[in-house]
Amino acid sequence: MKAILVDKADDRYTAQITDISTADLPAGDVTVGVEYSTLNYKDSLAITGASPVVRRFPMVPGIDFAGTVVDSESEEFAVGDRVLLNGWGVGETHWGGYAEVARVESDWLIPMPSAFTTQQAMAIGTAGYTAMLCVLALEDHGASPMSGPVVVTGATGGVGSVAVAILAKLGYDVIAVTGKTEEHEYLSRLGASEIIDRAEMSEPGRPLGKERWAGAIDSVGSHTLANVLASTKYGGTVAACGLARGMDLPATVLPFILRSVTLAGVDSVHCPRPRRMEAWGRLAADLDLDLLEEMSAEVRLEGLFELARRQLEGGIKGRTIVKVKS
Ligand code: NDP
Repeated sequence: MKAILVDKADDRYTAQITDISTADLPAGDVTVGVEYSTLNYKDSLAITGASPVVRRFPMVPGIDFAGTVVDSESEEFAVGDRVLLNGWGVGETHWGGYAEVARVESDWLIPMPSAFTTQQAMAIGTAGYTAMLCVLALEDHGASPMSGPVVVTGATGGVGSVAVAILAKLGYDVIAVTGKTEEHEYLSRLGASEIIDRAEMSEPGRPLGKERWAGAIDSVGSHTLANVLASTKYGGTVAACGLARGMDLPATVLPFILRSVTLAGVDSVHCPRPRRMEAWGRLAADLDLDLLEEMSAEVRLEGLFELARRQLEGGIKGRTIVKVKS
């Protein structure tokens, strides 16, 4: 079976396509024939070795996948069931989706929502599911389209594109922050009503600025997140899920103590199963499948090495689906 395998020996990091056998697969009670995976930011870090996300070697990267059960010792899943998986350390500490077959724990799997093909589920992927977790976090704190606009940073990225599309469909006024001037039309088609140049947000700013948005979904971190917080309206919520610019947060407490702003952290990897099911259910209801198609491109395993480098330079638009099954 074809797989991407990353390895580290004598401080030399390698990633290549190789053949693995079922006997090589890690322990788990369900074996899945992987049809599609995706390229998430973390996968690009794993393929290039740019950041130590892989914590066991050799490793098959791929933090998510969708496919069909081919063997099961679990009462919950039978051969032939369509399933999907996001996170749980898959692709980091347990072999992941960049192989034609994966063996995992049944607790990590989710039955495929009937609304999606395996390909559509991976067009959404971990980035899109995280975008929905961010929307749920805003709603938990009382956000509604009546509260005011929501700003989305890293807007042409995977998390950003899906977030813009969901929020617009839900009726929010969406402000998109992007560094890609050539993609303004793309963001408008997804539903953004205003676009801000990334440069305006990415330099050190004032501790408090004009109140501009009632909510935010930030996948960028660093000064961008600090500036997002500084311009959030009284009582607003910022859902933070990413670090595309940096993992630092050079902010002050003023937005919290003078404007009652809430900073809501969002993690997709160890998110409890009921919340995952809720997020995937909401994706089925609140994401326009035509827009999903517009924001996705498909590649095979061979194409990932170059794309991973481009993604870390911020050069990828939307979602990358990986067709794993040959
Ligand atoms: P993408 O690479 O698809 O998107 C990131 C976007 O961020 C880019 O397209 C670009 O958008 C913007 N960006 C890139 N570099 C910079 C920079 N230096 N300064 C400002 N903006 C920049 O990644 P994903 O959407 O898949 O993931 C985004 C982030 O979210 C990553 O850090 C990832 O690790 C994190 N993440 C976290 C999860 C969690 O569980 N918390 C789950 C999934 C993702 P533009 O050109 O439009 O400005």
